[in-house]
Amino acid sequence: MIAHSFEYLVPTSLGDAVNLLQKHAGRAKILAGGHSLIPMMKLRLAAPEFLIDIGRIPELSYLKEDTGKIRIGALTTHYAVETSDIIQRRLSALADAAGLIGDVQVRNKGTIGGSIAHADPAADYPASLLAFDATIVTLGPKGERQLPASKFFVDMMTTALDQNEIVREIQVPVPSAKIGSAYLKMAQKASGFAICGVAAVVELGSRGALSNVAVGITGGSTPAFRATKTEAALKGQKPSANVVKAACDKAGDGIIALDDIHASADYRIDLARIYARRALEAAISRAS
Ligand SMILES: Cc1cc2nc3c(=O)[nH]c(=O)nc-3n(C[C@H](O)[C@H](O)[C@H](O)COP(=O)(O)OP(=O)(O)OC[C@H]3O[C@@H](n4cnc5c(N)ncnc54)[C@H](O)[C@@H]3O)c2cc1C
Repeated sequence: MIAHSFEYLVPTSLGDAVNLLQKHAGRAKILAGGHSLIPMMKLRLAAPEFLIDIGRIPELSYLKEDTGKIRIGALTTHYAVETSDIIQRRLSALADAAGLIGDVQVRNKGTIGGSIAHADPAADYPASLLAFDATIVTLGPKGERQLPASKFFVDMMTTALDQNEIVREIQVPVPSAKIGSAYLKMAQKASGFAICGVAAVVELGSRGALSNVAVGITGGSTPAFRATKTEAALKGQKPSANVVKAACDKAGDGIIALDDIHASADYRIDLARIYARRALEAAISRAS
């Protein structure tokens, strides 16, 4: 199908983009990589009167380590996240997630800010952003806000972003050098989206016990969530195969799992348990 007609606006600074969004409040949409918005417009699920293309704002595209934080500009592509030396060394689960998104065309055009603003329930990033305790920095007419990932993702295609706000940056606290992390998923074969994807972050203490554990799960339920019972069952434990398996059996406890043409709710809960175990095993081997 062909999208509704719209006016195309190209700001060259972040301030101009925020002003345009406010000027056309409720009638405009930000265009980043276009890999979710353009299909939505062609299907007439979205019909903005104004498209504000932020693709020519260089100040939104960067990846750097700065005073205890790793800062990722909203316009950073999935490919840049996947191949970044800082992300591979410090936040390998996030590099894994970026490298598993769609195909190379999607990864070259799609952006981390666009992905999290879109909030597809099967998107890959939320699992890692939750597990790393990331903060989403937004900018709007009233200034900047800092939202923990756990508050940013609200529901299916719904975030805490106000309609006049832009995602500016994702911040992740620099983790200790002793952590290991990994992201694994069961992908929907045609698109690559996560039927269930799990990010695990672990820290091994001096006696080989897990001093910190975080497990984020996407695709299983909406919004993405932390498997807190699995985390609690593992903290302070030596991670033998039996201990990890028993903890992962709790990974889907208490969730209302998604149930659709791709997978039933029961199957998704099984996937959450299995992929939690596999992601934890991979994270532990990277921490050792
Ligand atoms: C074939 C295909 C396969 C895919 N497979 C996967 C997959 O396996 N895993 C996965 O996670 N994703 C997948 N995606 C989605 C892909 O990752 C998109 O790139 C991403 O969801 C949206 O990013 P974008 O930069 O393209 O955003 P756009 O499409 O430009 O925008 C998406 C939405 O976010 C808003 N937006 C964009 N940037 C900002 C910003 N900075 N501030 C505020 N609002 C903003 C837009 O207004 C729009 O509502 C796939 C997409 C396609 C087409």
